[in-house]
Formats: sequence, C-alpha cells, structure tokens
Amino acid sequence: MKLTTEQFRESLLKAAAQIEAHKDELTDLDREIGDGDHGINMSRGFQAVQKELEAHGEYEDLGDLSKQVGMTLIKTVGGASGPLYGTAFVKFAGAFKGKKEVEGQELAQAFVEATEGIKMRGKSEFGQKTMVDIWTPFHEALSKEADLNAALEQALRDTKERVATKGRASYFGDATVGVQDPGSLSSALLLQEIVEVLHG
Ligand SMILES: [Mg+2]
Repeated sequence: MKLTTEQFRESLLKAAAQIEAHKDELTDLDREIGDGDHGINMSRGFQAVQKELEAHGEYEDLGDLSKQVGMTLIKTVGGASGPLYGTAFVKFAGAFKGKKEVEGQELAQAFVEATEGIKMRGKSEFGQKTMVDIWTPFHEALSKEADLNAALEQALRDTKERVATKGRASYFGDATVGVQDPGSLSSALLLQEIVEVLHG
C-alpha cells in the first residue's frame, strides 16, 4: 500500500467533510463525558485545513503537506485535541520530509511516530479511552498489513467499553463505559479516509 502526496491531500479533504458531517455527534458525545466542544473544535480545524488545501493546490511532497496541516490544526482546533492532532501531523512532517510517496514499513513507521507524539504530548497510554486507543491498533495493523478497516472498527468498539482514566472524561468514571470517546471517533473518521485512499 502506497500513499502519494495527492492521495494524502485527497484523504484530508474527505476527512474534513466527514468531521463536518459528524460535528453534532462529536459535540453530543463530548457533552456526555467532557466539556462539549469537540465537534466545534474539530469542525473549525478541519474547515481551516480544507480551505488551506484548496487554496494551495498541489504540494511538493508529503512533508510539506503534513507540515501545513499540522500548523493549521495547532492554530485553529483549540481544546485538548488541537495540540494532539497538530503533533500527529508535525510528526508526519518529519517522517515524510522530502518524500513524494511512501509505502510499506516506512508508511507504518510514520504512524508509529505520530502515535508516539500524541502519547507524549497528552501524557497518555493505550487503554485510557483516548484517541491513542485508535491510533495504536491502527499502526499495528498497518505494520502487520492486516485489515485496516476491521482494525479501526474493532478499536472503536473496544474503546467505547473502556472506563476513561485520562483527561476530563476521567471525572465521569464508570459513566463513560458504553459512551464513545469523541477523540476516538474523530480519529477513526480521519484514519478511515486515509484507508480509503490507500486502497485506491
Ligand atoms: Mg472537549
């Protein structure tokens, strides 16, 4: 599976549309086990990304594209998730620097680095009902060349049943079991669009 610069750009435009379509759902989930701003924050961030990508047109390479997306997300998303998504794309920018396309283990490694960046920035680990619960099984599936859509679906089911032990959601304790983590859902929406372009 290969990711080209144009494919990555296309996946991010599609992700922006998905985030917009799920804006209210993300907000409702965050209202249940957070502070109710995730849909609004993610919509603002990805609408800004969409605008940038459309205005910019073709990118030199995956690194340039990732860098611009990361900076835009950091500037616009806000809340706890802005720096986390921003960090993921800044890590992509490093891993993809000067590359017009990547594939195989090199591609998987970029997702490992993005996930490590999210974990470090959020001081979080797998299993705490955060977006890390989606990014981790995703890069594992990518490394093993397993079914990526199945991995994302399973990860969403698993994180939904966990007790949140990190961030604002952790104050809701057992009430978080059975409620989807909004950051996990927005991550899955983004990664699903990357899977779509990888499958071409
Ligand atoms: Mg929030």
